Amino acid sequence: MAIATTNPFTGQTEKTFDAHSEEEVERRIAAAQAAFDALRGTSFAQRSEWMLAAAQLLEDDVEVLSRLVTLEMGRPITGARAEVLKSAKGLRFYAQHAEEFLAPEPLADPSAVNASAAGTRYAPIGVVLAVMPWNYPLWQVLRFAGPALMAGNTGLLKHASNVPQTALYLDTLFERAGFPAGAFHSLLIPASRVEAVLRDPRVKATTLTGSEPAGRSLASIAGSEVKHVVLELGGSDPFVVMPSADVERAATVAVTARNQNNGQSCIAAKRFIVHRDVYDEFTRLFAEKVAALTVGDPFDESTEVGPVATESGRDELAEQVTDAVTKGAEVLAGGRVPQRAGWFYEPTVLAGITPAMRLYLEEAFGPVASVYRAESREDALRIANGTTFGLSSAVWTQDADEEEWFVQNLDAGAVFVNGMTASHPELPFGGVKASGVGRELAAAGIREFCNLKTVWRA
Ligand code: NAP
Repeated sequence: MAIATTNPFTGQTEKTFDAHSEEEVERRIAAAQAAFDALRGTSFAQRSEWMLAAAQLLEDDVEVLSRLVTLEMGRPITGARAEVLKSAKGLRFYAQHAEEFLAPEPLADPSAVNASAAGTRYAPIGVVLAVMPWNYPLWQVLRFAGPALMAGNTGLLKHASNVPQTALYLDTLFERAGFPAGAFHSLLIPASRVEAVLRDPRVKATTLTGSEPAGRSLASIAGSEVKHVVLELGGSDPFVVMPSADVERAATVAVTARNQNNGQSCIAAKRFIVHRDVYDEFTRLFAEKVAALTVGDPFDESTEVGPVATESGRDELAEQVTDAVTKGAEVLAGGRVPQRAGWFYEPTVLAGITPAMRLYLEEAFGPVASVYRAESREDALRIANGTTFGLSSAVWTQDADEEEWFVQNLDAGAVFVNGMTASHPELPFGGVKASGVGRELAAAGIREFCNLKTVWRA
């Protein structure tokens, strides 16, 4: 893929960029290593001061930055602004909590291990390579960078090829905030050059947020190098609605849960699994509300759904829907590529999805919802757990026993009850099954890229 800004609303390429040369990549890896040697000796208080300055820069730049996000990947401007501010909040969170999350943990009874003192502490590990997607081009990067830098690591970013201007903004952010030069830089390289960077001995670990094939590829290279890897991959999250639920509220939230960020969120609810007692009511309300969404120019403040970020992404979505409809799925809303410029796809609701259709198992990365009818709670769980993914999930019920049963039995990294999945700096985030390994955010996220060092004294 060319490294370029192409406006999804018009389909026009606005700016192209040359990839960094081998020499430039070498210079940046060396700078990241040198910065690590400097950063690991600094105090939490010092890093916290720089991190708060980075958060302030994001807030100061909110207008220019949100316009960049909207231009490069088509997110409606109101959401882009919210992403900038959420990213600043995430950096502040780690500025305030990193020291407590990484505090040494002494063993209460060192005599049990024949020591006068023993315990653990968290040490940084060095340069970490982050391979990131375009869909939340700031948040995905900064939820990695905040904890990594606060722990004393340094970062190299290989951002998605369609968000180079956002990558260049991030390239200078932490240096502007006061961190040592080289503490965090972007590499403008295609995916084919990631392997060489990951195999460099100065790079100690890696994280990838993106598709399952990219994750598998990166993990196999990291495995062969015995380097730690965190993967945040795709999802096809279930949204289960049981008879005791507030069905009107569930339908309203379902519309946002599916269509946020033009339907391109890993944790978007994608499969709506509705008990037969409330199936007709939920499905009617959901389809009506989806059909009423305002689709249009993402720079317009009133737009709720903009274009899909890439032409290939839009075409893939159209092929998945055509495959389902050809095999008998029912279209309750949308279902077409609209006749207009840009990479739009109509917000869509489909029913009658069967295992023969691609949408049964594949992730739909755009505004396409599948509704399933469940005969019982066991049937709902069977459908919910019936894909290879396990990122997050939602269940709508007012029955406490039923709630506990779903929380226990849903195979997912998170369960949200009577609400939609969202990420919060305060809560761990990540998946099971093919949705990934490891966790980001909260204490778990900052500890991923640390050496948990055991210290024993005679
Ligand atoms: P993608 O193709 O996997 O791209 C993500 C990043 O990986 C880009 O920087 C891309 O570079 C790079 N890349 C692609 N193939 C690679 C390879 N073989 N080796 C190394 N790097 C490679 O992902 P996408 O399709 O654009 O993004 C959407 C996917 O991300 C969806 O599946 C979504 O669910 C998932 N996602 C997951 C989370 C989560 O937290 N779990 C969050 C957001 C998105 P180029 O751009 O240069 O190809």
